[in-house]
Amino acid sequence: MKKLYFTLLIISLSIAFLGFDKTDKKEISKDEIKLKVDELISKMTLEEKIGQMTQVTLQVISKTEGTVDQKFLIDHDKLAEALQKYHVGSILNVYNVAHTVEEWHSIINTIQTAAVEKTRLGIPVIYGIDAIHGATYTKGATLFPQAISLAATWNRDLAFSEGTITSKQVRASGISWNYYPVMDIGRQPLWSRLWETYGEDVYLASQLGENYIKGAQGDNYGAPDKVATCLKHYVGYSFPINGRDRTPAWISEGMLREYFLPTFEAGVKAGAPTVMVNSSEINGIPTHSNYHLLTEVLKGEMGFEGFIVSDWEDIKRLYDRDRVADSPKEAVRMAVMAGIDMSMVPYDFSFYEHLLELVNEGAVPLTRIDEAVGRILSVKMQLGLFENPIPLADFESEFNNSDYEQTNLRAAQESIILTKNYDDLLPITKDTKVFVTGPTADLLSAMNGGWTITWQGNEEKLYPSDENTLLEALVNKLGKDNVSYAKGSTFDKLLNVEEVIKAAEESDVIIACLGEPAYCESPGSINDLTLDEAQLYLVEELSRTGKPIVLVMLEGRPRLINRIVDKCEAVIIGFLPGMKCGDAIADVIIGDVNPSGKLPVTYPNSPNGLMCYDYKPIEDFDVNHYNPQWPFGHGLSYTTFEYFDIKISDEVINDGDEVLVTVSVKNTGNRIGKEVVQLYLCDLFGSVSRPVKQLKGFEKIELKPGEVKQVSFTITPEHLSFIGRDNKRIIEAGDFEVYVDKLKASFKLL
Ligand code: BGC
Repeated sequence: MKKLYFTLLIISLSIAFLGFDKTDKKEISKDEIKLKVDELISKMTLEEKIGQMTQVTLQVISKTEGTVDQKFLIDHDKLAEALQKYHVGSILNVYNVAHTVEEWHSIINTIQTAAVEKTRLGIPVIYGIDAIHGATYTKGATLFPQAISLAATWNRDLAFSEGTITSKQVRASGISWNYYPVMDIGRQPLWSRLWETYGEDVYLASQLGENYIKGAQGDNYGAPDKVATCLKHYVGYSFPINGRDRTPAWISEGMLREYFLPTFEAGVKAGAPTVMVNSSEINGIPTHSNYHLLTEVLKGEMGFEGFIVSDWEDIKRLYDRDRVADSPKEAVRMAVMAGIDMSMVPYDFSFYEHLLELVNEGAVPLTRIDEAVGRILSVKMQLGLFENPIPLADFESEFNNSDYEQTNLRAAQESIILTKNYDDLLPITKDTKVFVTGPTADLLSAMNGGWTITWQGNEEKLYPSDENTLLEALVNKLGKDNVSYAKGSTFDKLLNVEEVIKAAEESDVIIACLGEPAYCESPGSINDLTLDEAQLYLVEELSRTGKPIVLVMLEGRPRLINRIVDKCEAVIIGFLPGMKCGDAIADVIIGDVNPSGKLPVTYPNSPNGLMCYDYKPIEDFDVNHYNPQWPFGHGLSYTTFEYFDIKISDEVINDGDEVLVTVSVKNTGNRIGKEVVQLYLCDLFGSVSRPVKQLKGFEKIELKPGEVKQVSFTITPEHLSFIGRDNKRIIEAGDFEVYVDKLKASFKLL
């Protein structure tokens, strides 16, 4: 067997050397894979099987420190120990900083050659990476808007394109497994990972995630330009009750099924072959030990056939943090028996050792091990790793590709949300004298956020010099003489205010760029959603000049700005539009682009006013009100749209019927513009209180001045369903209303 793989390796190396033929590898059938996997498993020792379930981080096999200016070197002895002694099946991550594509090739080549040549069965390693908004850890990759900004485009095609391009660049780097997309929904605005989500709505997030996966995987993720995706972080991780990362969620079974599970189900249906687990706990049960959610719901009810990987060190945490296991070994038993197939250990081989003992003692049955290994090997086989374990040579065209850059620019442009434009201050003419200020005006890191070149994304000096900050883009577009700049404040400290006021007074318009520095995961946790005092104060001082202010917010979550919104004539919410953010926002400010982004989350206006748009009637009853800064779905354009002529196919339907809703939209302004037509549904009475409305359809259309388009939506039985008192999905007869803009139609289900 070993000889066979070695021969295959030589063939692959020759293919790589000659330049790979990019024709798609034929997808192997499920039956064929099962046969091959069963045959391989029958030859494996227990040690080899448990090794397949073990994943370590790159640092474990490194000879060098992961510093930014040091060339990364693999320690061959450590690699041999990992692969030969512990039979490790998977490696992940970078050691701190992005590599060039050539460095990646050398790393992956070394690992795979050792795995194929130096181990008894020659099973290739599956290498995993967080390619979050593009190939994060490959230098020169196309870095797209982060998920929250991609969601602000409400554009399925852009999600698909991001998936397609990211896959090409990740595979071109020699890596075939991407820990993305995040299918958690972002309903807790304090959470430091909100920006990794597609926002607060189940339907919007499902649609965008599904399209991303389809772009990333095509029909066959084993094709040479596709990768396997990973749904994160199953499930409920995004809803920490206190808002801090990796803290408990309290979500009833019914609410899990109504809000948090459907996005993952959409991801499973779209074909994602791997799932990563929520690092925290729900209702007191750490998810890494939750048999019900992992095995009964995900593998059982949803029919997920791929493998489940733990998150970073989270199996150990069952013992040393959560204390649901009274020893590290018991933690391993609990996690594996709950359904986890692979442990992201990731710094040592303790998982391997504990699991080996557990199986030998009979505490974990061999059948469970075989099931986990079968799932892992099937994905490796489907990925084509056995035929092509090493990176393909032909990658140049996947980088510095102007088509990809254009797509990225369009995504950034469509993600920009104009939430306020008093007296049509925007767009400004190109001879306007602008004064630019604020901590995010001249930082590429503030436009990109975490998972950019490094984990925290905050190493500004490592960012590409040929991308523009907003300040640079404005100088390019308006000319040096029309743009003046002073920083005004850091994220939390006021600088020289007098100098700033003086410069502002000499301008026509002030562009105040506020927000957050780049951050990721727990280091980004905050105790107060309010924007830092220094930044709020800066705008208050600037407003004394009487000059009109355009406020630009670059941030990973909607920081509270209600104190200054009235002092600003225009407000642009950028969130994290990625590497092309500077150009995109400048294009919107000068009117080269008509904004079309819409909020994918409710923008709150007070610390405790944290309601989502699909709130319950009781939240808008008596003294309660939904009173956000701006609602979900809001976003202005430089043109105006009129909605009319809503029609519904049937006013009375039977169980199982679909309803067709059509509506006409006209561009009544004098500029071409894109509009997101949003369809909401309300089930007027239900045995479980029903949300006041829920998004059930959207279409992004472009209209020339005067142009009219008719848009149709199909309401399916699935859209009418909800989770009943017994936690089962049901449909109840009764009255329904649909809303598109201010139009309404009704129908009755008999
Ligand atoms: C994060 C995951 C990520 C993993 C591997 C964890 O800390 O929660 O989202 O995929 O690290 O880098």
